[in-house]
Amino acid sequence: MADLHELAATPAWAALAYLASGVLFILALRGLSSPGTSRQGNRLGMIGMLVAVATTLVLHGTGLIQISIAIAIGGGLGFVAARKIAMTDMPQLVAAFHSLVGLAAVLVGVAAFLNPQAFGILDTQTGHIHNVSRIELGLGVAIGAITFSGSVIAFLKLNGNMSGAPIMLPARHVINLGTLAAIIGLVAYFVTDDSRWVFFTITALSFVIGFLLIIPIGGADMPVVVSMLNSYSGWAAAAMGFTLHNTAMIITGALVGSSGAILSYIMCKAMNRSFISVIAGGFGGEAPAADGGERVERPWKRGSADDAAFLMSQAEQVIIVPGYGMAVSQAQHVLREMGDLLKAEGVRVKYAIHPVAGRMPGHMNVLLAEANVSYDEVYELEDINSEFSQTDIAFVIGANDVTNPAAKTDKTSPIYGMPILDVEKAKTVLFLKRSMGGVGYAGVDNDVFYMDNTMMLLGDAKKMVEEIVKSMK
Ligand code: NAP
Repeated sequence: MADLHELAATPAWAALAYLASGVLFILALRGLSSPGTSRQGNRLGMIGMLVAVATTLVLHGTGLIQISIAIAIGGGLGFVAARKIAMTDMPQLVAAFHSLVGLAAVLVGVAAFLNPQAFGILDTQTGHIHNVSRIELGLGVAIGAITFSGSVIAFLKLNGNMSGAPIMLPARHVINLGTLAAIIGLVAYFVTDDSRWVFFTITALSFVIGFLLIIPIGGADMPVVVSMLNSYSGWAAAAMGFTLHNTAMIITGALVGSSGAILSYIMCKAMNRSFISVIAGGFGGEAPAADGGERVERPWKRGSADDAAFLMSQAEQVIIVPGYGMAVSQAQHVLREMGDLLKAEGVRVKYAIHPVAGRMPGHMNVLLAEANVSYDEVYELEDINSEFSQTDIAFVIGANDVTNPAAKTDKTSPIYGMPILDVEKAKTVLFLKRSMGGVGYAGVDNDVFYMDNTMMLLGDAKKMVEEIVKSMK
């Protein structure tokens, strides 16, 4: 019962400070649930973290110089990375940061295992680690190691250092289930025998399973993986909070773990994927590698900025569908200007957001909010999809996979089953991208390019919209 004693031994002021930081984190999550309050949410989260870190430093009061140096180095690196990173590379950065949380959990676990007395988890009567601490340690290093190796693979895939296509090992389900069963069995066995071989075998197998679970996941499922790893990193931190007897870590870890799990679930629903199949590592992901397939030359129509300006100004309603390419070219500001000009001419303008458009959850919402697009012009997929059939123009800007009808019909497509924005149902589709050769994240061709009602606008998104705006003026 040492853990409970230690927790009870936390002075009242520190317990209150940790509680306050927990409340601030909850308010931060609440703020982050809408673009309008997200800045405030971020601020509350930062204050909560400051309170938690300051409380821990005052509470323990030793090694302050070393800790300050470590915070300065880590904080400095984090600051530079966050300032330099392009918005479109954010998922890689998030995956890289998750890997560090996982690694930190493993390192704390190893330190606690090697020196249990220093961590207050040694039963002095038996000379062994307390049973309950063994479970915390075993689970903590296992989740931490899975988070670490899984996040490294996610980083390599998102950063393009490794193919984004699923890598399917033969008999991978048997290997994965066998490895997971071995880890669970060893964590249980660790309670009866705290030998080094048990602890380090749990750690090693967990590194391996993290790798195995993420390599088969490819194409359109990567967003779910990133939020799932986010959840794992929270549970790893919570488990280590028990080992370190730190209530703030337990609360924060549980919040990150559960909010990440909820986000993964929401994204799975949005993508029409089974939650279990994604966490089990590419179950059902039997689709062929996203290599673009064989491209057949087909006729298509090309339009100019003047054509687009003319067609849109004649329309009653234009639905704008932004995607990753808009983020790359940073076209959101000039796009808003185009929308304003259209509205001034009496055209109804709406923005349709697919849940996985761009490269991170809420990517398009953030960019449109940054460009001051009014929230009531921005619609989620399920709220706008029925409107395409009564719309004159669907203006697709730098989006591809999220408009690909193959997701509805082609069982061999890597995006099969994902709900898509039905842009092809509009009277005219203006499809803006740089070239006919370029494919989206999933690497597949899109039938919409070749449809009779589609006009391709080829060029950089920002430049093309600037030309459209010039032509409208
Ligand atoms: P997408 O399918 O990746 O397509 C992006 C399109 O933008 C491409 O057709 C590309 O064609 C064009 N493009 C690139 N740079 C451009 C520029 N400067 N100007 C104009 N066009 C440009 O994007 P999406 O439709 O937004 O779909 C998102 C995909 O990313 C989904 O498959 C999703 O699963 C995946 N994903 C999402 C997240 C998330 O959380 N949202 C995270 C990871 C992965 P060209 O090269 O010809 O220009």
